[in-house]
Amino acid sequence: MGQLKANNKEVVHEEDGNIVVINTCGFIDNAKEESVNTILDYVNKKNNGEVDKVFVTGCLSERYKPDLIKEIPDVDQFFGTTELPVLLQALGADYKHELIGERLTTTPKNYAYLKISEGCDRPCSFCAIPLMRGKHISTPIEKLVIESKKLAANGVKELILIAQDLTYYGLDIYKKRNLANLLRELVKVDGIEWIRLHYAFPTGFPIDVLEVMKDNPKICNYLDIPLQHISDTVLKSMRRGTTEKKTNKLLDLIKKSVPEIAIRTTLIVGYPGESKKDFELLKSWVKKTRFDRLGCFAYSHEENTHAYNHDDNIPKGVKQQRVNEIMEIQSQISWELNQEKIGSKYKVIIDRKSGNYYIGRTEHDSPDVDNEVFINAQNIYLKIGEYVNVVIDEASDFDLYASIID
Ligand code: SF4
Repeated sequence: MGQLKANNKEVVHEEDGNIVVINTCGFIDNAKEESVNTILDYVNKKNNGEVDKVFVTGCLSERYKPDLIKEIPDVDQFFGTTELPVLLQALGADYKHELIGERLTTTPKNYAYLKISEGCDRPCSFCAIPLMRGKHISTPIEKLVIESKKLAANGVKELILIAQDLTYYGLDIYKKRNLANLLRELVKVDGIEWIRLHYAFPTGFPIDVLEVMKDNPKICNYLDIPLQHISDTVLKSMRRGTTEKKTNKLLDLIKKSVPEIAIRTTLIVGYPGESKKDFELLKSWVKKTRFDRLGCFAYSHEENTHAYNHDDNIPKGVKQQRVNEIMEIQSQISWELNQEKIGSKYKVIIDRKSGNYYIGRTEHDSPDVDNEVFINAQNIYLKIGEYVNVVIDEASDFDLYASIID
């Protein structure tokens, strides 16, 4: 979008224009279905004369281009994940190499996702991402600092660091895990007040990051570390390079190093061969560990992955039942943890206003996936993107209700 703007093209996000570019996901069944439905909706609009052209890019297009060309011929052109210059050309624009970090964001003004590397070198058996995004390539620290300064100049106060694998950052270009040094540079960027870490792979997690997090108030006490499972049999088959014992040791170390930390994880249930015993172990571990945030997904059998060689032997209904059981346990934990917050004080960033409420987040909450803090808007005026101090008055499973304090 930044490239198009620099070519004097008007760009809108999720509003209709005359040329539509659909950025697709091709990761698991649900995402593929959503992407295909979106393409079909816009092809219909094209056939009704509501839009002139439909272009499709992103992971689904990278993974299934020949099939898509055959199945949905009314799309004007499909592009792979590395074909941005070709896509720009089709839109009548030139790729400008000099535009380091020049972006148009689609998130609320106060936060932005900062992608610190692309691709992944891990061998996780269930995962199709390396097939679509290629090998791990870290973006150098200097470029990320430039991008962050530009984002801050446009009003961004919170950087949400993402990558397929944050843990691996730097190994390719600096020959060492370098996330801690990147953080030390990013905290110096004027205007950035929060930096949040998503998608840290557990194996080889750089422990020095915890020190930076503890010492620097700008690094949110928050870590998203997808653990996927806890049974050694399943972890081994998933090729995660870790075990139950190592995982628990790492979690203990994280909590001991940063006692205030909120840990988010994601799990996969219904993986080929996941026995009742494996699943019961997972449930009791979730109960015992009491993650602050947790998401659970049903295994999706993806062609050309290592796990595709196994029999996808857990019926769909059982997979969903297992997802439901884990999420029920987590709802109860989340409710209990939220009740403990009543009476506590937090710094909150205001993301938006909806009806009678301003809606914000604490440093322990990432947008879209975690708790939100609701502040009654009837007698106060707050600016979007403003930080305020609140006290929590009430709490439900996934929402907090708060009043402003000085
Ligand atoms: S680390 Fe993440 S992106 Fe990389 S292969 Fe494993 S699950 Fe996929």
